[in-house]
Amino acid sequence: MNTQPKIALVTGATRGIGFETVRQLAQAGVHVLLAGRDRGKAVQAAQQLQGEGLQVEAIALDVTDAASIADAAQAVAQTHGKLDILVNNAGIMIDDPAKKPSEQSLDAWRTTFDTNVFGVVAVTQAFLPLLHKSDAGRIVNVSSILGSNTLHRDPSSFIYDFKVPAYNVSKSAVNAWTVQLAHELKDSAVKVNTIHPGYVRTDMNKAGDQQNGELEVPEGARTSVKLALVGNDGPNGGYFYLDQELPW
Ligand code: NAP
Repeated sequence: MNTQPKIALVTGATRGIGFETVRQLAQAGVHVLLAGRDRGKAVQAAQQLQGEGLQVEAIALDVTDAASIADAAQAVAQTHGKLDILVNNAGIMIDDPAKKPSEQSLDAWRTTFDTNVFGVVAVTQAFLPLLHKSDAGRIVNVSSILGSNTLHRDPSSFIYDFKVPAYNVSKSAVNAWTVQLAHELKDSAVKVNTIHPGYVRTDMNKAGDQQNGELEVPEGARTSVKLALVGNDGPNGGYFYLDQELPW
């Protein structure tokens, strides 16, 4: 029996859902690398969780910076020699809600895609060789229900009027990428799934001083953690919120 702890890496983990995902994975006995684009913030966040007695290590990783991704992958290879779980959690929403879909700036589209889509692809490319060294590699792409084209076209859906196009389309692209990668991985020990965390009270949903949302952060991390720890009989290439399969 393999008694070594699983090694996980969570991107964008300095706050919000990512930070809580690190905490819950570490509480489940996983050794977690808490990745942040700002090394100081990552160290501070990791120290907070170490103070709770958890096995958490800080690592610098900006998902839009090729050198930073390469350095992080090399550091994990040297220190751990493998990766069991990759949670692509880092994300931004920068559409101007006062503008119509056709009016969002191209700069907003490009910046959003750099983080939410190309960041996910680049980090996955860098860490996939290490995930293949695990006997049960897992990739969780933190998407959103706002990536569902089926629901965006349904006037009875609660997201029907929520058109922040650069963000929404970036998450649809993450979903589509998950399907492509799942096909590549179908005969391997690595599984990839895309998830919606729920509508969670984090800085992403801040209006003034208020964090809007239906869920507190601990609930918001549950779907990421569930898919990160899924067994060998679990899904590959699915789109989930908790136990629910979402329409693409
Ligand atoms: P958040 O509180 O705004 O946190 C975002 C995290 O991403 C921060 O740690 C931030 O780091 C990091 N980040 C941003 N750009 C990065 C980059 N280039 N490289 C590395 N890290 C970067 O957001 P959240 O609500 O926890 O969101 C987490 C994920 O859940 C996102 O992918 C989001 O789209 C998704 N999601 C959230 C909700 C919700 O209701 N909150 C709903 C659906 C999906 P800094 O601290 O350095 O800025």
